[in-house]
Amino acid sequence: MRLDESMVETGKMSLENLTLAEARAGVVEGRVSAVRLAEEHYERIAVVDPEIHSYLALTRDRAMAQAERVDAAAKAGDPLGPLAGVPVGIKDVLTVRGVATTAGSKILEGYHPPYDATVVARLEAAGAVVLGKLNCDEFAMGSSNENSAYGPVKNPRALERVPGGSSGGSAAAVAAGMCVASLGTDTGGSIRQPAAFCGVVGVLPTYGRVSRYGLIAFASSLDRVGPFARSVEDAAVMLEVLAGPDEMDATCSHEAVGGYAAEAKKDVAGLRIGVPEEYFGEGLDPEIRAAIERALDGLRAAGCSIHKVSLPHTRYAVPTYYVIATAEASSNLSRFDGVRFGMRSNDAGTLSAMFRNTRDEGFGAEVKRRILLGTYVLSAGYYDAYYRKAQQVRALLTRDFVEAFAKVDAIVAPVTPTPAFKLGEKTDDPLQMYLEDIYSVAASLAGICGMSVPCGETKAGLPIGVQVLGKHFDEATMLRVGAAVEKQGLGNRA
Ligand code: GLN
Repeated sequence: MRLDESMVETGKMSLENLTLAEARAGVVEGRVSAVRLAEEHYERIAVVDPEIHSYLALTRDRAMAQAERVDAAAKAGDPLGPLAGVPVGIKDVLTVRGVATTAGSKILEGYHPPYDATVVARLEAAGAVVLGKLNCDEFAMGSSNENSAYGPVKNPRALERVPGGSSGGSAAAVAAGMCVASLGTDTGGSIRQPAAFCGVVGVLPTYGRVSRYGLIAFASSLDRVGPFARSVEDAAVMLEVLAGPDEMDATCSHEAVGGYAAEAKKDVAGLRIGVPEEYFGEGLDPEIRAAIERALDGLRAAGCSIHKVSLPHTRYAVPTYYVIATAEASSNLSRFDGVRFGMRSNDAGTLSAMFRNTRDEGFGAEVKRRILLGTYVLSAGYYDAYYRKAQQVRALLTRDFVEAFAKVDAIVAPVTPTPAFKLGEKTDDPLQMYLEDIYSVAASLAGICGMSVPCGETKAGLPIGVQVLGKHFDEATMLRVGAAVEKQGLGNRA
């Protein structure tokens, strides 16, 4: 699509299909203004979002000021950034200065952070226009967005179904044309799974690839920030802007950043693709299995060789993840006590009553469950049996990947065992919900990069995603394989 003002005038602009590359080209070549593009998105949000509920806050003044700056620069012929005029949304676990930031929790009600997350600052420095903050599961804990204290998000492709979680708002907003790209976070699958459920591209960068300064922590040894977009190339452009060292985040790597957009265009002929047998067992939906097999056929036809690999400790990944993630969460969330951030209980007669009542009223059920679990596995009598053991298993899971990657360049697997499930279907059974993460958490524990690329849909019309996993800091090869899957056209809507 070539974007110009006349298309906006006649309502021909399809915001759901507009790519980042097209939006930027329209702005840079003067065919559409950044202001107009932002206004069109706000109009669409006003029409569509009362049903979908992906935005928790809109940042209209800030967006318009930024769009005007971009337009002025374009008019003056000044050099424009790689995201010039591109409307984006930010998951509400990332801070934006002066803007309500809730992490989907009641306990942060009224919190207006005094600083921008590095990723937000980088997007804006590249010319992006931040439209607002996106709904998510409380403190990013969940797989369906039903744990948000502000109500669930609906899947734009099937309104009675969940968009996935925890970055459900970030995936839904991109799928429904309410921003061109967005930021999410992934601790155990929260970018890849909602991307798969909503039929968009989602990228989990290698642990340490992208700064987390300004990210409200869930599980610090696992949390990562990454982009959602409508094409692999767009996601690659976003990653290029986001990646790289940050003096505000000591866990952010100095490893060189690749030219991801250019890398994604390279031919895949000769690449070795691993298929882990443990990811294709019982419980995998047959339509998803068939879609992945079609994608693999396509990669073979493009000149890749396909190899069986084994990741023998896979079956321990979910329990290991839920020990480590809850342990870290119980510690990270101790800072929310009614003193420094957000809400404070009215029932706060004594110091300990204030702590207790603020946390009791402010946290939702899933967050409390995880604080309890995490505190338990860290307690003196159980530390060795659970937490230490989980760290040992984590090392084995990581070794599985390192050994597999000695033989192959990328790994291809399902993202989820099923397509998007119905709202309310799993809310009564936390274990059932945790099993959603069966194909995503091992890569999280190992720190490798991964992504979800649309690769078809079920007979009922629900999107299917394929997961591509890459070596530590080898986003380039992963994106290449992702782009090759995308090129097969399997993800196109009928
Ligand atoms: N679904 C997983 C969980 O509930 C992953 C969440 C995430 O990646 N933030 O912990």
